[in-house]
Amino acid sequence: MTKYLAKIGLEMHCEVSETKSKVFSSSRNEYSSTPNCNVRPYDMGFPGVLPVVNKEAVKMALKASIVLNCSQPKYMYFERKNYYYPDMPKNYQITQETKPIPVGIYGHVEYECNGEEKTIRINNLHLEEDAASQNHLYDTSSIDYNRAGVPLLELVTEPDFHSADEAVAFLEHMRSVYQYLDISEADSKKGQLRCDVNVSIMDASLDENDPSNWGTKVEMKNVNSFGGVRDAINYEIKRQTKAKENGTYDTDVIQQTRRWDEESGTTIAMRSKVNAVDYRYFVDPNIPKYKISNEWLEEIREEIPVLAYDRKKKYMSEYGLNDFDSGILVKDKQISDYFEKVVALGTDPKSAANWVNGMVLSYLNYNEITIKDFYLTEEMLKELIDLIDSKTISSKQGKDVFYKCIEDKKTPKQVVKDEGMMQITDTSEIENVIDGVINENLEQAKTFDPTNPRILDYFVGQVMKKTKGKANPAMSREMLFKKLEDLVK
Ligand code: ADP
Ligand code: MG
Repeated sequence: MTKYLAKIGLEMHCEVSETKSKVFSSSRNEYSSTPNCNVRPYDMGFPGVLPVVNKEAVKMALKASIVLNCSQPKYMYFERKNYYYPDMPKNYQITQETKPIPVGIYGHVEYECNGEEKTIRINNLHLEEDAASQNHLYDTSSIDYNRAGVPLLELVTEPDFHSADEAVAFLEHMRSVYQYLDISEADSKKGQLRCDVNVSIMDASLDENDPSNWGTKVEMKNVNSFGGVRDAINYEIKRQTKAKENGTYDTDVIQQTRRWDEESGTTIAMRSKVNAVDYRYFVDPNIPKYKISNEWLEEIREEIPVLAYDRKKKYMSEYGLNDFDSGILVKDKQISDYFEKVVALGTDPKSAANWVNGMVLSYLNYNEITIKDFYLTEEMLKELIDLIDSKTISSKQGKDVFYKCIEDKKTPKQVVKDEGMMQITDTSEIENVIDGVINENLEQAKTFDPTNPRILDYFVGQVMKKTKGKANPAMSREMLFKKLEDLVK
């Protein structure tokens, strides 16, 4: 698309999964397959119920606000958004609008898209309560209030994305941010991430910084997978471009809310935005405004760990790891923490990365366990790598030791000792074996040609066989070469 420039803005909702209780009630904030088991009168909207603000949820929201480089409010307010729907029995949702100031306003985020660094401006971040979930079966609907009141963070970007790739790369970046900050598992399969996607196209020759040049935006509600976001954007760009080309833009592209239909791979008009509902926002009189102190913000700021984006940069520039390996290491914070500890203990970062990305990750994946339940501690992995570096065991033996440690619940040193796996690095011991092998194969040994030492492999093989693989292969090869060379001189 060269003639037209796509403008895309996202409204990303993320369920906060890591607080103990809901955002305005003391119900457990916990997914359950039993409907309506995490419910208190507040969540049901009984008359007279009063909200109590969950400080932990506010703290997490502020943490995200800081990471998004937003400004934080001096005072925290919550507002009522009034509407009638069975998933919201109070007839209003407690949320935050941009006036007064929500938990975060006007920020920016750097992220990576196809190896390029990009920046997206953030319009605002707000904290609200999630609605109940509905299940429809034939002509009956059931409702589950477990989700009602789960804290929800909604992030609104400016329409700075120009492609589906950029929008999805940003969503992936934010998923990692929420996970690193211990705010949410941010798992779209559990419905914890949901997106409204806004798309318009404009004449590429005009200045995109002037909003009057922007085209008509179409909003797609509740797209709940990253693949869906990608497909929905690409579909809309195509549909809108075609309308421009056909001269039907003014009738086909109107300000409306459309629904992304996963099955047909198309967007379907839901309602026109022109007669949008008036939600009659007002500050919730049951929640006193309260001050966010600078001291508290400072405390929160100090708890923020180094995030994946910066860790990856460090692994590449300081440790000399490649883009791919660094990307795998930072994907999960616990894996990245594990790797960093192994390095901090004095292991060469490249060996540590090879072990973590190779043996450790495949073991965890194969056995479907997390690093928390992994037997080998950082200290043990370092010990294992040291045993190989010091040539006590070969790297092939290292793999056996790895499994044996886990199986027998022993340290690498213990396994090597108990299994008698020590490599033979004692020259006189290897020399004895070599002499024996040469004597047994004397005729062949005499055919040795130092300029074309083909038969060396055979002799090395014999030495390994005699020592049950324990002779150091490099040393054996070197010593054999000298012996055979002397023999034929
Ligand atoms: P509304 O009042 O319809 O909710 P907002 O101004 O709050 O609209 O913006 C909602 C989302 O739509 C934001 O993510 C914003 O970036 C995006 N957006 C606004 N205008 C456009 C446009 N012309 N094209 C694409 N996205 C847009
Ligand atoms: Mg809006």
